[in-house]
Amino acid sequence: MSTPHLAQRLQGFGTTVFAEMSALAVATGSVNLGQGFPDTPGPAEVLDVARAAIGTPLDQYPPGPGLPVLREAVAAHVQRFRGLSYDPDTEVLVTAGATEALAGALLGLLDPGDEVVVFEPLYDSYAAGIAMAGGVVRPVPLHPPTEDGVSTDPWVFDEADLRAAVGPRTTLVLLNTPHNPTGKVFSRAELELVAELAHEHDLLVLTDEVYEHLVFSGAEHVSLAELPGMRERTLVVSSGGKTFSTTGWKIGWVCGPAELVTCVRTAKQFLTYVNGGPFQPAIAVGLGLPDAYFHALAADLERKRDLLVAGLAAAGLPVVRPQATYFATVRVPGDGLAFCRELPHRVGVVAVPSSAFYTPEHADLGRHLVRFAFCKRDEVLTEAVGRLTA
Ligand SMILES: *Cc1c(COP(=O)(O)O)cnc(C)c1O
Repeated sequence: MSTPHLAQRLQGFGTTVFAEMSALAVATGSVNLGQGFPDTPGPAEVLDVARAAIGTPLDQYPPGPGLPVLREAVAAHVQRFRGLSYDPDTEVLVTAGATEALAGALLGLLDPGDEVVVFEPLYDSYAAGIAMAGGVVRPVPLHPPTEDGVSTDPWVFDEADLRAAVGPRTTLVLLNTPHNPTGKVFSRAELELVAELAHEHDLLVLTDEVYEHLVFSGAEHVSLAELPGMRERTLVVSSGGKTFSTTGWKIGWVCGPAELVTCVRTAKQFLTYVNGGPFQPAIAVGLGLPDAYFHALAADLERKRDLLVAGLAAAGLPVVRPQATYFATVRVPGDGLAFCRELPHRVGVVAVPSSAFYTPEHADLGRHLVRFAFCKRDEVLTEAVGRLTA
């Protein structure tokens, strides 16, 4: 038998550093602020629906596009928070998390050699998803503020870099706002620039908005689909994982014009076909919770952000205060990967090197950056801060 080898299109996508760091956390008994998942359960109203659904016909395959009750809840939610209306039957598709919505969109829309403009650092599934679809990543760097102490300025990009990234083979912009790992919320002016380029070059836009509700005081989440003329060329992806602290449920969705959603569905039906029967009606209930739920979720997380950011600064690490999400980024004196490999042994805390969120050619941009998650119980954060400052 010849030696099995990893397919060419997946070369360079070996085991992620997240797995290494999580294993290190277990081996050293460290506080794990690496992977971004909450350590408290989601709202009881949501969990109860899923529990009650198990043992009923909801255990069987849901309809291909998702349960109607969830597609209707997604449409109503997007109408309530973004003022956009989508037809639940033709313009909403339920997926196995945001991850499958993104993979399905890339597989359903890209031809080999098509270029995708992405802001960098980028969520780790993007480059792999683009590669699996035969596409090419065209990264646009985001630059962190470089002050010492706590920076309250957002990460920024150069308009010239964005314009230069768009070429004759560009067909798609993949935009994540609020953004992981930087915690940046793209401003309306920045989104207007992306929209202008999309119109100029006839590009489609795929937006990942899984942190849409985890936005802190002073920042406002805007979806690109809200800008004039953009709804018709934009696919909006989100998911229940972050919003309802149910990251293991993997209930996501995509909204967009029917022709674009059909392209995603064509790929999606051969990926998972369907998933999470009992969880779908539960997320539907979550999406209908009153505004107070979503406000309290963000306010609670903002408090956790402040706790961790103050602790990181007290430990002497220059830190960028995030406008949203689960994550704060610090600048370390040396190599971020080496720092993260030593930290569990030195103080018993695990973080992840931000270099994992850069394309190999741009690894230098993230070399000194490290990401910490603050979506943890207060006592866990206090313990981590205590260890970091000791
Ligand atoms: C967590 C995360 C996802 C994955 O969402 P799932 O619904 O769990 O698939 C996608 N994009 C970003 C930016 C994330 O942080």
